[in-house]
This record gives sequence, C-alpha cells and structure tokens, in this order.
Amino acid sequence: MIENPAYIDGRMLINGKLVESTTGNWLESIDPATEQVIGRVPAAGPEDVAIAVDAAQDAQKDWAALSVIERAKILKRYAARLSEEGERLLAVEVRDTGNTIAKLRHDISNAVRGIEYFAGLGTELKGETVPASGEFLHYSEHQPYGVVGRIVPFNHPILFAAKFGAPLMAGNAVVIKPSEQSPLSSALLGEIVAETLPPGVVNIVTGDGLGAGLPLVQHPQVKRISFIGSVPTGMAIQRAAAEVGVKHLSLELGGKNPMIVFDDADPETVASNAIGGMNFGWMGQSCGSMSRILLPDAIYDEVLERIVAKADAIALGDPSLEETGAGPMNNRGQLEKALHYIQAGKDDGARLVSGGVRPDGAEFEKGFWLRPTVFADVTPDMRIFREEIFGPVMSVVRYSGDFDEALALANDVEYGLTASIWTNDLRKANRASREVRAGYVWVNGVSRHFLGTGFGGYKNSGIGREECFEEMLSYTETKTVHVRY
Ligand code: NAD
Repeated sequence: MIENPAYIDGRMLINGKLVESTTGNWLESIDPATEQVIGRVPAAGPEDVAIAVDAAQDAQKDWAALSVIERAKILKRYAARLSEEGERLLAVEVRDTGNTIAKLRHDISNAVRGIEYFAGLGTELKGETVPASGEFLHYSEHQPYGVVGRIVPFNHPILFAAKFGAPLMAGNAVVIKPSEQSPLSSALLGEIVAETLPPGVVNIVTGDGLGAGLPLVQHPQVKRISFIGSVPTGMAIQRAAAEVGVKHLSLELGGKNPMIVFDDADPETVASNAIGGMNFGWMGQSCGSMSRILLPDAIYDEVLERIVAKADAIALGDPSLEETGAGPMNNRGQLEKALHYIQAGKDDGARLVSGGVRPDGAEFEKGFWLRPTVFADVTPDMRIFREEIFGPVMSVVRYSGDFDEALALANDVEYGLTASIWTNDLRKANRASREVRAGYVWVNGVSRHFLGTGFGGYKNSGIGREECFEEMLSYTETKTVHVRY
C-alpha cells in the first residue's frame, strides 16, 4: 500500500514557471472513492492559453535548432526523472483517478518507454531524393509544425500527458491540456518538466474543455492538434478548428470493440480474456475495452457461465492496495452514464447476469462505486450493443457460429478501434482480421499494446496512428525542394 499524498496545491507550467491562472480561478479535484477534495489546479482561460502558446512558439525555434542527438539526450533525462518520481506520481494518480495501483504502475512505465522509444528515432525522420529530372536535385525534408496542442482524457492522465516524445523529437514545442477530471498528476509532471526541459518547450495548461481546450484548438499559431478523447468531442474539435483555418488533427477516439469468438476456442481461455479485455481493473474506462463478446451457440452457455463467475468474483476496494481488483469509477458523470446504460439494457430486453448495482458495504456508501456488470442475450438493436458506455458494462451476444454473421455483428457499429479474434484455425483468423473494420486487432489476445506498432481507429474511432514511427512523422510537414546547380 502506498501512503496517501498530502493535499496537492497544483500549478500549471508556462514557460518553465509553475504559475496560477490569470483569472485566479481553480478547479478542485476529488477522490472518487470517498468524494473528498484532495487537491486543486488552476482553471486556465483563453488568456493563459495564449501566453502558453506564445512561450511555446518562442522556445520552439531553439529547440528545433538542436541536433536530434541533443534533443534525445534531454528527453532521456526527462524520462529518467519521470521514472524516479514514479512512486510519487503513482500515489497521486491512484487517489485522483480511482484506478488500481497495479494497473497504473504500467502507465508510468509505458510513458517512460514511449519517451525513450521516440528519443531513439530522431535520425529516422529522413527525407528523400527523387530522380525527377536531369536538371535539378529534387529532395524532400520533414519539418516540425511549430506549436502542437495536445488535449487528453481522464482515464490515463499521466500516461497521456507525459508521453510527448513524438512531437518533441520532431522539433515541435507543445501545449498540453489535461482532463479537468483527474488533473493532479499533471501538476507534478509540471515540476518534472520544469527541472529537465528548456523553458517553454512543454507547457501544461489545466482547465476545462471550453475554457482551455477550445481556445487551444482555435489559437492561430497552433496548426497541429493531437486529441485523445470521445467521438463527440473529437467532432466538436474538428468543427471548431475548421472555423478558424486549416489545421492538422490526429484523433484517438472511442470504441465499442468486439471480441469475436469461434467455436473451436477454449471456453476457459475465452472467459478469462473477456474479463481481462473488458479492463474491469479500469472499471471499463479504457478505449480498447472488449465491450461486446460475440459467442457462438456451441459454447455460449459455458463461456457465459464462466464470465459471470469471474465478474462476480472481482474484489472492489481501495485502489491503493495491490490485491484490489477494481476501484470506483472516475467521476460522478461516468457513474451516471453507466447507470443510464444499465437501465437502457434492461429496458431494451437484455438479461442482466452480473452486477448492475452499487456494491454492499459501509466503505462503498460514498464514492462512485458500481459492481462490474454483464448483460447476456444482447442484440444489435439495443443501445448497449451500439453505444460506447466507457464503464464496466459488458454485452454478451449470441450468434449461430457462422463466420459471416460474426463479422457482420462485429462491424455493425460506428466505431472501429480494436478487435479480438479467438480461434486456432489460421485461415479463419486471417480472414476475420482482414474483414474486421478496426485499427488494432489481436488474434488470441486482448488489451496489450506493443510499442512500435500503430495504435488508432477506423471509422469514427479516429484519424492517425500513435505509438509508432508514423506518429512522429505525423508531427511534421513535408517540404519538397528543387535545386538547379
Ligand atoms: P472527452 O472527450 O470528454 O474529453 C477529453 C478532453 O477534451 C478533456 O481534456 C476535455 O477537457 C477536452 N474537451 C472537452 N470539450 C472540448 C472542446 N469543445 N474543445 C476542446 N477540448 C475539449 O473524453 P473523456 O471523457 O475525458 O475520455 C473518455 C473518452 O476518451 C472515451 O470516448 C474513450 O474511448 C476515449 N479515449 C480514446 C483513446 C484512444 O487512444 N483512442 C484513449 C483513451 C480514451
């Protein structure tokens, strides 16, 4: 168990300085397990965003002028400090998000690995020479945009705020806008960045979507926006950006991800991976969660029974304890959204087979607690089949066992982020992975991300790929030059 952190009186990071907002307004943050206030951060407004963008713009020129080796050295120093401060970040993050310590530990190590990965890739941003004519030398080079605006969600606050290796190695400066729901770790991140990076290269403005996010999107000097969050916000950002100019966006959005099970799969393996893939340890608040389990008739009852037993056995409790299976949901809005969908599932005729209620016990009277929930006999006309809940609500769907029926069900939603396919038949696995409309597909696997392989969505789940070289390239624009000697 980690010690509870003291009250966090957080600051934002602008131009290397830890500052309050110009408005003097604050955002309080509460522990979702107890609803107690555990800290605050400044509530930035448009003026703060403008100051941060100016600072980034000034710093970017010198930053881009450094050699890639110099930039990599600085980023590695930053990654090392992040790692050294891991336990302190973890203690705050557990309290501020409600996610379990065991899960959050990976977020910190993944942030560190992500920075190190991109630090090593700088010299790969190579241009090309093209033999287009005999008179000229034709070549291309990749140049940074300048200032990148990065807006991130509440579910992996430190991971998403801290992993700015790709835009920085490409020579950009960034302004980060963390989620207002779990902003406290970004205050600690500001201290680490202030210690390790030149002033202004990374700025952090805390605030809500309309007060700080929107002005960042619409700032004329921010030509490249990197957004991770929900589909509606992603669409709002596209519209808002288009109102003021032509901007480059990457959008990592939501999912309603299918686990496609064929009848040769082992029921116990499928059941345990369905539970793992649903990310109940994050209370389902993970974009890649397998929230639709498509089971063939032949093994439907057996797998369902095992899933229910495992869901019933998940131990809810204090997220700072290593043995806790799941903590509370992140915030009241998320809890209410999940409860709304649980009611919709019942109203639409699905069969509630696990959870759906607040857990029993005095320790769960306050806070945003909900038992991991499983619905059986879900059909495509139901809202819990089609819409992203972003909560601990799994939909189990029965199909005949026919390949085409499974794929039609899998693809029958507006999302296309991840998919998981279960079979030992290689031919079936290959065909299914080709036909499923999703950007990140596991065959006989769930949840894991592999650095160096592109993560991102098809359909409304997004634009662009992260966690790979393509991500770094996406923070550059290509210039073509023709030289006559
Ligand atoms: P959200 O869209 O509500 O908010 C995300 C961020 O956008 C927050 O920082 C918020 O303040 C900001 N924001 C809100 N309105 C804005 C506006 N009009 N202009 C600019 N910024 C604005 O998402 P959330 O509830 O924090 O996170 C959950 C969502 O994120 C889910 O849909 C989930 O699937 C998605 N997500 C996707 C990925 C991925 O990699 N594809 C990863 C994690 C989460």
